[in-house]
Amino acid sequence: MDSNSNVTMDAIITFLGQTGASTPPEAAELTKAAVNILFAISEEGAKTAEDALDIIHDYRLQAKQYAALQKKHLTAGKPFLKDGVWHCPDCNGRCRPNNSFCHRCGKKLGWR
Ligand SMILES: [Zn+2]
Repeated sequence: MDSNSNVTMDAIITFLGQTGASTPPEAAELTKAAVNILFAISEEGAKTAEDALDIIHDYRLQAKQYAALQKKHLTAGKPFLKDGVWHCPDCNGRCRPNNSFCHRCGKKLGWR
């Protein structure tokens, strides 16, 4: 980790707030926007700059996991017939034509 990782969000926000007060109006506006963003992240529980980066990383990870779950449970896959038995397109588990979801892995099944 870099040496800035233990800087607290409060310290950054306070510094920017003080800096913004003594800058030209355009810069003050940008500083205010930055303070609002940092404040929102600190409201999510970030006490240090490292926490803030972790939270952003976690959001990305969750977005990825959510997309994978959505693909599995909301996007239907067409079962395939092998040796006279229907199989799940995701896990190859057996399924029946009246199953909406694979009983083995939860994949949504689309029969048409
Ligand atoms: Zn399956």
